[in-house]
Amino acid sequence: MWTAIRPWLFPVWCIGCGEPGTGLCAGCAGSARSRGLTLDDLTVRAAGEYGGVLRDAILALKRGERAYLDPLAALLAPLVPPGTSLVPVTTTRRRAAARGFDQARELARRAAVLRAGVAVDVLEKRGAAQRGLGRGDRLDARGRFFLRPGVAVPPRALLLDDVLTTGATLRDAARVLAAAGCCVLGAAVVAHTPPGRETPRSGGRFVEA
Ligand SMILES: [Zn+2]
Repeated sequence: MWTAIRPWLFPVWCIGCGEPGTGLCAGCAGSARSRGLTLDDLTVRAAGEYGGVLRDAILALKRGERAYLDPLAALLAPLVPPGTSLVPVTTTRRRAAARGFDQARELARRAAVLRAGVAVDVLEKRGAAQRGLGRGDRLDARGRFFLRPGVAVPPRALLLDDVLTTGATLRDAARVLAAAGCCVLGAAVVAHTPPGRETPRSGGRFVEA
């Protein structure tokens, strides 16, 4: 009964424990353990491992539920040095339209506000989205980022994404930025898949820092 009426009484509740008023309460968010990983020469900071409440919240984001943007941005914020330019690793326009928003763009905007930085929406992703593709196809999806015309590339920037899986997407985004003269400081992600479950390609491997 409670489960049935709760959504009517409280439009938003914690995905972990059901506490009303937030998509992810501080207690449940506190279960995430942040860590550093090295992806070739790219340093990635993750708020936690992909599982539990983080996984549930990220999947809810991908379903278009905005209630998880603020709590996940708050988890990302400590991974972002103050005053940093954040470049969101955007999804395709088609997928963002289906969802109602681009989660990386929204997370970057919120994290930038929390850390007195700026979100610079400079990357554009084209081509097939990764979801539903096999691992090999996802790896082949490299080379799909382009610079948005008319947007200045910041001299230094931190990439921001929701999930790190194979690292192929982050690598590609970093390559495009670097080619445009940007010093890529690394990346911050909400969650990473545990090393070994999906390992990076091309001899790279996650090294916990
Ligand atoms: Zn909770």
